[in-house]
Amino acid sequence: MTLVIMKFGGSCLKDKKAFEKIAEITNIYKYSKKIYVASALKGVTDMLIKAAHNVKNKKDVDKNIALIEKKHLDMIEEIFDQETEHYSNCKDWIDKKMSELEDCIADIEEFGLEPYYIDYISGFGEILSTYILNQYLESQGFDSVFISANNIIITNDNFNNAYPLYKLTNARIKQHIVPLLDNPKEDTIFCITGFIGRNKIGYTTTLGRGGSDYTATILARSFYDECTDKDIKIILWKDVDGLLSINPKYVSDSILIKNLDYAEAKQIANFGAKVLHPKCLEAIEERKIPLEIRNFDKPLEKDNYTIISEITNKDQIKGISAIEDATVITIISGSMVDVPGVLGKIFEVMGKNKISVSFVAQSSSEISTSFVINGFDTEKATNALNNEEFFSEFYHINWEPISIINITGLKVLDNKTKSDIFSALAKKNVNVKGISQSNDELNLSLLVNKDKLLDGINIVYDDLCEEFENEKCSDK
Ligand code: ASP
Ligand code: MG
Repeated sequence: MTLVIMKFGGSCLKDKKAFEKIAEITNIYKYSKKIYVASALKGVTDMLIKAAHNVKNKKDVDKNIALIEKKHLDMIEEIFDQETEHYSNCKDWIDKKMSELEDCIADIEEFGLEPYYIDYISGFGEILSTYILNQYLESQGFDSVFISANNIIITNDNFNNAYPLYKLTNARIKQHIVPLLDNPKEDTIFCITGFIGRNKIGYTTTLGRGGSDYTATILARSFYDECTDKDIKIILWKDVDGLLSINPKYVSDSILIKNLDYAEAKQIANFGAKVLHPKCLEAIEERKIPLEIRNFDKPLEKDNYTIISEITNKDQIKGISAIEDATVITIISGSMVDVPGVLGKIFEVMGKNKISVSFVAQSSSEISTSFVINGFDTEKATNALNNEEFFSEFYHINWEPISIINITGLKVLDNKTKSDIFSALAKKNVNVKGISQSNDELNLSLLVNKDKLLDGINIVYDDLCEEFENEKCSDK
């Protein structure tokens, strides 16, 4: 029997109709075993984080907390009859959790905002929403249990952006859930909180913003390892049909990517297609667990959705994406050519300052090295480099605002495709100021001036139309 792990984001929990849709989906998948992962109600995580940062402003925090409480109370009033046990269970749960939250706010006031408080606080959204989902399913006659992932997913200590420790997580899954799942008589839905885990000491950790998708894939991987039946798939229910070839804000005829493999998906997710959390693929790639991205409003859709699996069409470009606001820093050497360790030093400075580097290029002459960082890190990065004697003495440091066009798909490994891309860009006078594609990598990154980004994306998308899975292309 297939085990389906479904993730429901905030937009799938927005009102009574949405909850009814989840019940409908539950019926559609009645012949599968089901694990549901839920995110917080929309906006709640932001409000929680704001409260944590704002404890000094008592009035503001109280207002925020009251709002969070009201949001959940309104929701349970909408979806349950107030006479029912489900309503009163939820009401009690909300009361209890709100008071834990208030205790934590008081602790922050007393001890200051340590990193673990933020994780602890920001996880409340999922603890509230998932419990409500669990009670809703029960109210509809399904058998459901609520499980807080901070009993199940064990992570490292990297608060705010924790990484799962799979061996320990697998052991928990094996101990707590697999026996229930393996029992063929039970038809229980497991409602598990997204986003959160715990470290070995027991402190709540979180998996990074938008991390509930990641929770679904971490669970899938652990179930794959621990269950005898490996027939597992993941469905992420979203408010769009799936991954698009290009952000519709850039072009009017963006198309749905129906099939792509893990490596392609990893690239697409990394480049800001907010639909999928980039870390998800890492968890499922090796085990080849399929992942579907489906439109929550069309649960019966047969054709138009995205499936990430081993199957892909190698003759296609899958997507184009852009990083709009970036900065390219170029370090130019006068005399220090062929000196080992220069790159090491550059990245050490970036790493020490927690600046993420997204693009690197150095031609083999080694005279200059360019790398790209987020626009908002520019000052931090340039100051850090200038403060290092090694760089200020022997190197020139230039920087320039820039945008990046990323073209992704196995097809970009072909020379012909690259030649077509450059011819297209030349037509619109889009000057390519830097290129990067690591060996065998199915993503080509091009640096262009910010004011040429839109032209660049559009001309590549139009001119290479046939390389996408685009049926409309022939009438262009
Ligand atoms: N609620 C968390 C966030 O807003 C996790 C998620 O939505 O996936 O980041
Ligand atoms: Mg139950």
